[in-house]
Amino acid sequence: MNLIDPRTVIILSGSMSGLMALVFYILQRKYPTSIQGLGDWSVAMLIFCVGGSLFAARGSLPDVLSIPFSVFLLLLGLYIGYRGTQRFFGVAPRPAPFAVLLLLALVLELWFTVVEPSYQGRLRTSNIAMAILFGQHARFILQQPARTFGNMLTAGVLGITAVIQLMRFVTTFTEQPDYNTLSTSPQNLVYITSFAFAILLFSISAILMTTERLLTEMEQLAIHDPLTNALTRRHMHKLCDSELSRCKRHGHSMALLMMDLDHFKRINDLYGHQQGDLVLVAFVGKINASLRQQDQLGRFGGEEFLALLPQTSQQEAEMVAQRICESCAQPHDLPVCTVSIGIATNAHAADSFDSILARADAALYQAKANGRNRIAMA
Ligand code: GH3
Ligand code: MG
Ligand code: MG
Repeated sequence: MNLIDPRTVIILSGSMSGLMALVFYILQRKYPTSIQGLGDWSVAMLIFCVGGSLFAARGSLPDVLSIPFSVFLLLLGLYIGYRGTQRFFGVAPRPAPFAVLLLLALVLELWFTVVEPSYQGRLRTSNIAMAILFGQHARFILQQPARTFGNMLTAGVLGITAVIQLMRFVTTFTEQPDYNTLSTSPQNLVYITSFAFAILLFSISAILMTTERLLTEMEQLAIHDPLTNALTRRHMHKLCDSELSRCKRHGHSMALLMMDLDHFKRINDLYGHQQGDLVLVAFVGKINASLRQQDQLGRFGGEEFLALLPQTSQQEAEMVAQRICESCAQPHDLPVCTVSIGIATNAHAADSFDSILARADAALYQAKANGRNRIAMA
């Protein structure tokens, strides 16, 4: 007696696909629009559900309907799923080659059902087409720079299923032919159940990918100031603390630049708050252009910013600060607003972030007192 009946597997897989279609649809409505692809994944699951039902209806429906069109729908579902993944990674889908593949598969399936009935022919057609779609889907994910657990799991599930499809293709040349898709031969059972598992595992791993993406986006939102996109004060505190520990371990120096726009209130009073906001955004752009990749910039208060310069001496910090002052004083398409900068480094062995910050703040105060649009050293 066979423990696994292929028709039952197909019916269960189809029902799970229907449920997953609903899950993806709900997620698409709930998740931010920056997370793309959920809509396609939902449609793909719905297509698997319909395709699976057609497959399972073999014997009750004419073969010409249940066989070629169920295979076509499963292939279409695989392509739409792949398109969802492309959108998830921000890549514009190019459907033309896949449309050709799907139509060719449909024609061959019809041919081997109606004109020259051959189970082997149909099986080889669907195996090769599925192996291409699963394989390309896996390859695409592996080409993405992000190597998260969710991404790797999805690529792994798809890659293994592509290999199983290819192996099934090979067995059609080496083994005794099965009677049909609902045959209970071991190789057919592996083939059918692996497809069902692939769809379920793909759904789970795709949800994992979206959850990871959502977490990353939330983390980014939590540590960035919404107006200027500079880091938040809390995150700067964390970064400075860990940089200071590194400095103490390796004997490096680090510098803090405390920056405050000069007479910024006047900008708001003269040009309005919105122009003031634009000046702040432009200011951050200018500082970032003057900083190195490893430097960090945070918004400390309204028009006060803090830059952390790792592995930087006092002289180097002075040059950077001077560059920032000069670039702010240059005329541009927004109201010109100069900046005063206080500089402090980890000069003392017992220094903490707060003690260096206090010195940078005192130096800033000094720069303001000396006439603004200038730098001062602690
Ligand atoms: P000083 O040279 O002494 O620093 O003078 P100041 O006018 O820059 O300093 P003050 O502290 O008097 O004013 C800071 C102004 O920054 C007041 C506040 O309305 C404005 N400000 C703070 N946050 C924002 C913001 O997000 N957008 C805009 N447009 N203005 C802001
Ligand atoms: Mg100011
Ligand atoms: Mg201020």
